[in-house]
Amino acid sequence: MDYLRAVLNNDKKSEKQHLQNLIKIGKKLNRNVNTYEKELSKLASVDITSKKATPKKVVKKKTTPKKKTTTYKNSSYNISKVTVEDNQIIIDFKHYIKKDYINYSEEKRGGKYYDIFDFDGRFEDASPTKLVMNGVDRIRITQHKYRTLRIELINSFNLKAIYIISKKRVIIKILNRKIEKESNSKALPKIENNKDKVIVIDPGHGGKDSGAIGVKKRYEKNTVLTVAKYLYYDLKKRGYTVYLTRNKDKFIELRDRTKFANRKNADIFISIHANAVPKSQWKKAKGIETFFLSPARSSRAKRIAAIENKTDMSSMNNSSQNALLTILNQSKITSSQKLGIDVQQNLLYTARKKYKDLQEGGVREGPFWVLVGAQMPSILIEIGYITNSTEGRRLFETSYQRLLAKGIANGVDSYFAKNQ
Ligand SMILES: [Zn+2]
Repeated sequence: MDYLRAVLNNDKKSEKQHLQNLIKIGKKLNRNVNTYEKELSKLASVDITSKKATPKKVVKKKTTPKKKTTTYKNSSYNISKVTVEDNQIIIDFKHYIKKDYINYSEEKRGGKYYDIFDFDGRFEDASPTKLVMNGVDRIRITQHKYRTLRIELINSFNLKAIYIISKKRVIIKILNRKIEKESNSKALPKIENNKDKVIVIDPGHGGKDSGAIGVKKRYEKNTVLTVAKYLYYDLKKRGYTVYLTRNKDKFIELRDRTKFANRKNADIFISIHANAVPKSQWKKAKGIETFFLSPARSSRAKRIAAIENKTDMSSMNNSSQNALLTILNQSKITSSQKLGIDVQQNLLYTARKKYKDLQEGGVREGPFWVLVGAQMPSILIEIGYITNSTEGRRLFETSYQRLLAKGIANGVDSYFAKNQ
């Protein structure tokens, strides 16, 4: 749990510490610690705190004191350094950073796309600093307000930028991929990168298994298939290698879904479902939730898992189910959780642009049978409550379905950008 918490907080130092502990104790107990060791070596290679600063790209002019400079004490400058390293912008603060110190927005003005990062802070060298990154037309850095440092990435195309907070540091990354704006140019070499990423999308249920039945007697199996298909095309457009476990109304056993993903050597597995509750809760229950597989059994996860697991679990009794769940590979759980967080955040962010009332159900752990056999990070998304009158209707509207697919695809992009 401490390890997971460290991963969630992006606290690399503590992540490392707990991994080292896990390995030490595991070895004492004669357990196989290979996966932890692998994770640790990965961590060592990206360890930002241990990396000595590579050549600075900050261009400082001779200090031309500006009018106000003398009146501010040095201590009012809480941002110490802004640089580009490994084609990422790195902003170093003098103190720990919380998520709400950063405001990220996108704008389109005069045919240009702006990715705007506002930081709660002051940086003495804002105006002499020049930043250059591959794949970004122009970067502008300004002390926008007294307490707001603004960094803008300005482009002729819609760039995908993400930021990561790590203790006193914020890292802005771009996906090294231009979104295809040009009509036919095949000169997009970077798009090839996604090609070796294999994604298996699993539309839940099918055939004799209708899944949940919602308002107006509409079936879960149908909306999840449509969303899965939109997602399939969206991800293909972004250059990924994508497979669907089913592309028509057909029954498939749960275990065959993950078997398929294993056979395809998938990097990630995404199962798509819609949620349902008993009639007394129809009005109240709504929102999007993303689950990753874990042995944890909160009552809520248990309830939803019980519905989703229904078709295929009968062949196994409870204790063997539990036994299987407890041997789950911890590093896979961690990656699944990371994937879940990225997908859930992007899904919500994207869909809320149009559907502002959309509820955040969070990223949760649960014992979902369809995820058990998968050898890769895997998640299950409940794209909404089919039993709620508003959501139940939207879930069958094309514009909503497409937006959900786009949000999930953005999440996949974001996951792969952080976890190469
Ligand atoms: Zn389902």
